[in-house]
Amino acid sequence: MKVIVLGSGIIGTASAWFLHKAGHDVTVIERQPGAAQETSFANGCQISVSHAEPWANPAAPGKILKWLGKEDAPLLFRFRPEWLQWKWGLNFLRECTPARTADNIRQIVSIAEYSRQTLQAVRAETGIAYDYLTRGILHFYTDQKDFEDSLPAAKLMRELGCPRNTIGADEVVRIEPALASIRDKIVGGDFTATDESGDVYKFTTGLAAKATEAGVQFRFNTTVTRLLTEGSGAHARITGVEIISPEGRHQVLRADAFVMAMGSFSVPLLKPLGIDLMVYPGKGYSATYAVTNPDAAPTVSLTDDGYKLVLSRLGDRLRVAGTCELNGYTRELNMTRCEAITRRTRELFPDACDYDNPIYWTGLRPLTPSNVPYIGKTKFGNLFLNTGHGTLGWTMGCGSGRAIADIVSGRQPDVDFRFTGMPYRSPQGVAGAQSVTA
Ligand SMILES: Cc1cc2nc3c(=O)[nH]c(=O)nc-3n(C[C@H](O)[C@H](O)[C@H](O)COP(=O)(O)OP(=O)(O)OC[C@H]3O[C@@H](n4cnc5c(N)ncnc54)[C@H](O)[C@@H]3O)c2cc1C
Repeated sequence: MKVIVLGSGIIGTASAWFLHKAGHDVTVIERQPGAAQETSFANGCQISVSHAEPWANPAAPGKILKWLGKEDAPLLFRFRPEWLQWKWGLNFLRECTPARTADNIRQIVSIAEYSRQTLQAVRAETGIAYDYLTRGILHFYTDQKDFEDSLPAAKLMRELGCPRNTIGADEVVRIEPALASIRDKIVGGDFTATDESGDVYKFTTGLAAKATEAGVQFRFNTTVTRLLTEGSGAHARITGVEIISPEGRHQVLRADAFVMAMGSFSVPLLKPLGIDLMVYPGKGYSATYAVTNPDAAPTVSLTDDGYKLVLSRLGDRLRVAGTCELNGYTRELNMTRCEAITRRTRELFPDACDYDNPIYWTGLRPLTPSNVPYIGKTKFGNLFLNTGHGTLGWTMGCGSGRAIADIVSGRQPDVDFRFTGMPYRSPQGVAGAQSVTA
């Protein structure tokens, strides 16, 4: 089959890789000059299967209210006269009940674990170098109540098979000695040795290069303007995709099947087709610092719970990422938020990096209220979804690509997950939380 993949972030590129391996003739359309230049460019770089709690959890509404109006808040709603944002907010609240949270964690852990195994297999097969470290993820807490509140999720993770161990402050510093300077502020942590970190940009561009060698066609500098349809009901199909070529010409590209993997930008392209995805852009920030004193910089990937920051060592760089602002599609840098990241990183590792020359970046996480992505079918027989991976697109990326290749090929993926538009019966009996008019 001829398949067109829309978007070349980690999700589109992984989809293209596995579609090609499944024997399809694959073309990827991307508006940027290369792969991974938007949200998959400079993220937190954690493969965090065991720290996959969605932001929608029972403690979230109280915290968000407390943070309203604070410029440096970890999660900031900027209310806009925009129906999607309000509707998304209401759906987010609905996902905060204990039952929904537990069900969402199960879904996320399942696809994330499958994805980590898939990533490891791709790494072994391709030899892509992406500054990866398999030293685990250490989540540390500086607030006693937050630490206690985290225990039920950690317990659920263990029940789901994640070896996430709750540990004391001394053990935290033993695992990552670079945290010694704030030992007296740490109240505890949890550590999962099986989690990983690595540069998502290097991996995605490396995979795009391997896919190109294998015969996948990447059309960069090419913008998708709309999807063309025909038929209705069970006969509804996509006939082609209208693009603007690098030369500025409108063209229509035809294929047998289409995979939507444009992250936050999937929403406006699908809306005219009557597909209402509940995906809202969650603007996050990162800072990248040159490591000047390797012994003082962490090598275990970290999550600083109080500041909602993740830290990953990428060779001679330290990447620190986090915070979320719900404020439409804007990507401008808010220096208050950037400086808060540098202030905190300097406090944690005062002698580790060159803090005078940070590289700041923002990206738009394609957030669903539940943080469970849309992977699966739509009401158009040949249009498939692989989008809405929110805070965990790198963690779930390779597995999502492999799963959508199975679905496009007419096979059931070998993972227990609530695929969109496909029958699913949760073992726990909780109804599907994610709806799409697709
Ligand atoms: C600050 C921050 C930290 C994060 N940290 C982590 C982490 O530690 N671990 C983790 O697992 N995840 C993390 N994430 C989430 C992760 O980065 C995202 O979930 C992931 O990058 C989404 O990938 P994607 O391919 O869906 O989207 P994208 O990477 O945005 O790809 C979509 C592509 O579609 C293209 N496109 C859009 N519109 C058009 C159009 N009209 N025509 C043609 N092309 C188009 C875009 O150019 C883009 O390349 C983080 C995100 C942020 C912002």
